Amino acid sequence: MSTITAVKACAATKCAFNNNGCTAVAVTIGGAEKAACETLTIIDARAGLSSANGQVGACKRLECKHNSDLLCTAAGINLDDVANCASYEAR
Ligand code: SF4
Ligand code: SF4
Repeated sequence: MSTITAVKACAATKCAFNNNGCTAVAVTIGGAEKAACETLTIIDARAGLSSANGQVGACKRLECKHNSDLLCTAAGINLDDVANCASYEAR
């Protein structure tokens, strides 16, 4: 299955890839207890694309109902201020 899932909004403004939204070409969602963005980067810089067109490259949360073959099939995802995936839904 091929899918491209947009990072619609991310409230983790401390991330270097956040410039009025996610500017990473592809983020990886994983995390420990909660589904979270593992591309989160806390350094004193801004990086990434010139516009907020970030996409989900991979997601390790197989137990989320939007996950298929380690990809996200949601139309888009939102992340909260600590970079947790707010679009996560347990199967
Ligand atoms: S989705 Fe991840 S990489 Fe993109 S701005 Fe948010 S925390 Fe940073
Ligand atoms: S909605 Fe589910 S499958 Fe998509 S990125 Fe979030 S946790 Fe992963």
